[in-house]
Amino acid sequence: MPSVIVIGGGLAGLAAAAALGSAGFQVDLFEARGFLGGRATSFPVSPGDEDTELIDNCQHVLLRCCVNLMDFYTRLGVADRIHFYREFYFLEPGGRISTLARGPLPAPLHLTSSFLRMRCLGAADKLAIARAMMALMRERNRRTDLDRITMLDWLREKKQTPRAIERFWRQVLVSAVNEELDRMAALHGFQVFWLGMLARADCYEMGIPQVPLRELYSADAWRKAGDVRIHGRAPVERIVFRDGAAIGVESGGAIRQADYYIPAVPFERLGALAPELGIDITNFEHSPITGIHVWFDRQVTDLPHAALLDRTIQWMFNKCEGRYLQFVVSASRGLIGMARAEVIEMAVREAADFFPMIEHAKVERASVIKELRATYSARPGMEAARPDTRTCASNVFLAGDWTRSGWPATMEGAVRSGYRAAEAVSAASGRPARFLLPDIA
Ligand SMILES: Cc1cc2nc3c(=O)[nH]c(=O)nc-3n(C[C@H](O)[C@H](O)[C@H](O)COP(=O)(O)OP(=O)(O)OC[C@H]3O[C@@H](n4cnc5c(N)ncnc54)[C@H](O)[C@@H]3O)c2cc1C
Repeated sequence: MPSVIVIGGGLAGLAAAAALGSAGFQVDLFEARGFLGGRATSFPVSPGDEDTELIDNCQHVLLRCCVNLMDFYTRLGVADRIHFYREFYFLEPGGRISTLARGPLPAPLHLTSSFLRMRCLGAADKLAIARAMMALMRERNRRTDLDRITMLDWLREKKQTPRAIERFWRQVLVSAVNEELDRMAALHGFQVFWLGMLARADCYEMGIPQVPLRELYSADAWRKAGDVRIHGRAPVERIVFRDGAAIGVESGGAIRQADYYIPAVPFERLGALAPELGIDITNFEHSPITGIHVWFDRQVTDLPHAALLDRTIQWMFNKCEGRYLQFVVSASRGLIGMARAEVIEMAVREAADFFPMIEHAKVERASVIKELRATYSARPGMEAARPDTRTCASNVFLAGDWTRSGWPATMEGAVRSGYRAAEAVSAASGRPARFLLPDIA
């Protein structure tokens, strides 16, 4: 069978390796770090201590509509480690809860009854949102300007109330796309709401891994994925080209060869690895995400997760018995210049507005992880700038959440890009195989 070298052990590279490995290709995956998962990974809280717990760099969530990501987890035999929640909790300062959950009506009306009961929105907000949802369903296949306007432009065009924008659209979309409404292309907002809320009655269910992310890609799991050899702490310095095709990769001073190559590295790394590909990344910018982990000396909530309204912290995830909480801030440019202690103080102070028990609790320890390069910024015009998997080299195929996967930069987007690259390799080798599952609608 043909051989393939995959560069990068994030979800894009792992998905390409799992797909090709299970189709019989001989795969060698080179990862620069000593562990897998890339931006969706975990690390020890106290690196020197053997018994230390693993924490995720940041809570990663998926929705039921992430069919390729679930397919990837199934290939590794870990799909049962993802727990799906059917209820979304929106919390106002003061602690009042509005719950969004599926009711008796079929899609796209399945969320209607709980939506009408949401106390964090008034009647005028709900009417505006309902009108906009209908417009979104009408316009999603008709409008040609969705990658040219921002989501905020579209919401203003649809005369959304300030509260509907702030407490509903912004609350959902900034976390899903990791960008502010006035910087995000409307295209992505449409996709999130269509696939993630309206298309099917269960598509909105939120999946949360029940183990640290790194455990999803353990050596045990890879035994199920065919002939895949993983090389950790093996950065690839460059891809070597001759006559318009790759002839090897240089790693640790040695040249390794294969029939096909899949660079699955972030956009800012590709230029150094393979300038010969001439991929233009000048328009790409990063958007940061900050995760704030706080361990209290007692239980402060029994909710499993919640969207936190009207504050800087946007989501709470209950990581352990209501004592270890993780707060997430997407598109967190405002936190970049703040000191770690300031960020923790702000998060705990704001969290106390939602969870009054925090007033009586002590913070035992806390950790702040600012991922400055969390995703590319999904601004208008970027969809056209995302490169396809095919390159000018006949045996090199790109993967990565920033390539044109059909999805924003997410775990699903990364896996889709890996599957697309794997399909391109299989087609080029004369053994065409399908790996990519279609969207649910
Ligand atoms: C804080 C945070 C929170 C997020 N939350 C969510 C979420 O809730 N839901 C969601 O769907 N998505 C989320 N995302 C986005 C998601 O993590 C990414 O879109 C996805 O993991 C990207 O995968 P990737 O394989 O494209 O890239 P990466 O994960 O960046 O993988 C690239 C890999 O290549 C390796 N590499 C780089 N250069 C070389 C080299 N020269 N040689 C060998 N290896 C190399 C890197 O070490 C890395 O492991 C979040 C991201 C962050 C940072």
